Amino acid sequence: MELFLFVNLSNIYPIIAMAIIITDECINCGACEPECPNTAIYEGADDWRYKDGTSLKGSLVLTDGKKVDANEAQIPISDELYYIVPDKCTECVGFHEEPQCAAVCPVDCCVPDSDHVETEDALLAKQRFMHPE
Ligand code: SF4
Ligand code: SF4
Repeated sequence: MELFLFVNLSNIYPIIAMAIIITDECINCGACEPECPNTAIYEGADDWRYKDGTSLKGSLVLTDGKKVDANEAQIPISDELYYIVPDKCTECVGFHEEPQCAAVCPVDCCVPDSDHVETEDALLAKQRFMHPE
């Protein structure tokens, strides 16, 4: 008799996902910015804030333990090109099936950021933390 055993591999090997990063091939067209459900994309040289486009406000502790002030203006990650804030990017988990910035970018310069690897569960927790409603 053959025995088939179905196992959810994600319980054994957590699904690994990454934040998205914009490479220096960006042509500053701005198409990605309004598509981000987390307001994680900013124009080069613009300040960014945790509270922008989220429910976050005041002093708080992020899901990774980092203490931040959601209202405080943060230093731009790039002065010349559109950029993505890794702390706010969930790779669109919780909203969409695929990263929306990558889907609209005309030059395919929104790519996985190997310096910011998180599990899908962690990304979902981050999304729910920013948008608890
Ligand atoms: S992957 Fe989604 S959440 Fe991350 S920057 Fe792109 S649009 Fe925003
Ligand atoms: S859509 Fe692509 S090229 Fe346009 S601003 Fe965003 S990252 Fe840059």
